[in-house]
Amino acid sequence: MHDFYYKGTKLYCESIAVEELVQKAGTPLYIYSQKTILENIRRLQTAMAPVEPHLCYAVKANASLGILRLMAQQGIGFDVVSSGELNKVKYAGGQTQLCVFAGVGKTEIEIDNALELGVYAFNVESIPELERINRLAKKKNKKAPVAIRVNPNVDAKTHAKITTGTYENKFGIAFEEVESLYQKAHFNYKNIHLKGVQIHIGSQLTTVSPFEKAMEKMAPLVASLKEKYGIEFFSIGGGLGIAYEQALESGSARWWQNEGKDFASPEKLADALIPFLKPLFTSGIKILMEPGRFIMGNAGILATRVEYVKQTGKKNFVIVDAAMNDLIRPALYESYHQIIPLEKTRVEKTFTADIVGPVCESADTFGLNREISQVKEGDLLAIMSAGAYGITMASNYNGRAIPAEILVNNTNADYLRTRESIQATWHCEGIPEWLLGNKEMLPPEESGVCPHGKDC
Ligand SMILES: *Cc1c(COP(=O)(O)O)cnc(C)c1O
Repeated sequence: MHDFYYKGTKLYCESIAVEELVQKAGTPLYIYSQKTILENIRRLQTAMAPVEPHLCYAVKANASLGILRLMAQQGIGFDVVSSGELNKVKYAGGQTQLCVFAGVGKTEIEIDNALELGVYAFNVESIPELERINRLAKKKNKKAPVAIRVNPNVDAKTHAKITTGTYENKFGIAFEEVESLYQKAHFNYKNIHLKGVQIHIGSQLTTVSPFEKAMEKMAPLVASLKEKYGIEFFSIGGGLGIAYEQALESGSARWWQNEGKDFASPEKLADALIPFLKPLFTSGIKILMEPGRFIMGNAGILATRVEYVKQTGKKNFVIVDAAMNDLIRPALYESYHQIIPLEKTRVEKTFTADIVGPVCESADTFGLNREISQVKEGDLLAIMSAGAYGITMASNYNGRAIPAEILVNNTNADYLRTRESIQATWHCEGIPEWLLGNKEMLPPEESGVCPHGKDC
């Protein structure tokens, strides 16, 4: 469920017509519903309540400052994958002590930084990383809190590019090696505190059975690690999928996530996992979850304007002003996004078209062979379910500015991010001195000095 719906012929976000926002802020424009974000959090917490889950929001899904602040206000923690994310969480008002730090390539600088700031745990993905953390913690005379990320070798049955829990993937430590590694770490790594254990088998899982399979393997391991080494927590990762394809609820204007019978909802996840997790919880293990997409995905849309309708004889192309640099998911994962008009016409005339962006790549598409309303130049469309892995993956490719983002809260709306200026798209760049020739070619304030200040 989300709070984008038609009121009369117009698409609304909570109590505001999307068109109104577009008129103020232009397109392409990301728009999020705060109510939907909060409802998604509550839904997860309610379903999993028997094991009192500690949510660590996966920052990479959407890392905008205002979103991080909203999460911090809910008292939830964060799953970060870089120093950049960790410091941004702190800047946004989040507590680093509630952060788990994941990622296969943590640098020495990043580990030092996390040791200084103090994180809840490092989720460690390899033996060399464990050795590195031990060595750096020793230098600081600290004990680093650590969880081993276990690769349970369970196929998440999702897109290959977002599968992470099989031995074909770079993530985690093989299930069979985990017990002996804890033993080794316990005896040999004096500056490691073995605090927990973690899994994350993939993203956009649409059935619960892979979660269940992973849990069957993990539950006895977690119990044993608690017994032997006194670990305190078990993080079951993120990965809960969302319905990208949605249907209008009959007789109403609400869009329903098309969760079929077997779709992996929080309630079904709870039904499958709580039998495994409850005994661990009762024995004193804290249960962590790292949801990203589930919280943000359906809480955001990308509004875009039709620039041209091009008919080639073979095909119809609807060319919009959003592109793969704004939302790369279709190009990267061949993912589906529903595309609907901001204004429904009374007599809906449809045609079949490819909805594409202006970027010079054939992958720059949002939907292929879609039956959509017969739009024309200037019409406005919403690319649905764009709240997760949208803006965080945006780039300046083709000289395009990062789009603006707006958060809606009932009748209020405000910027999370203003549209990047064209000048800002090259603000960290410079011209090598020997190519500069006449220095007056560059305006003085931009020659070698970053207008954004230091560290750029
Ligand atoms: C990306 C990621 C998540 C979040 O995944 P979602 O599918 O967005 O829920 C959680 N944990 C880790 C370690 C991740 O890398």
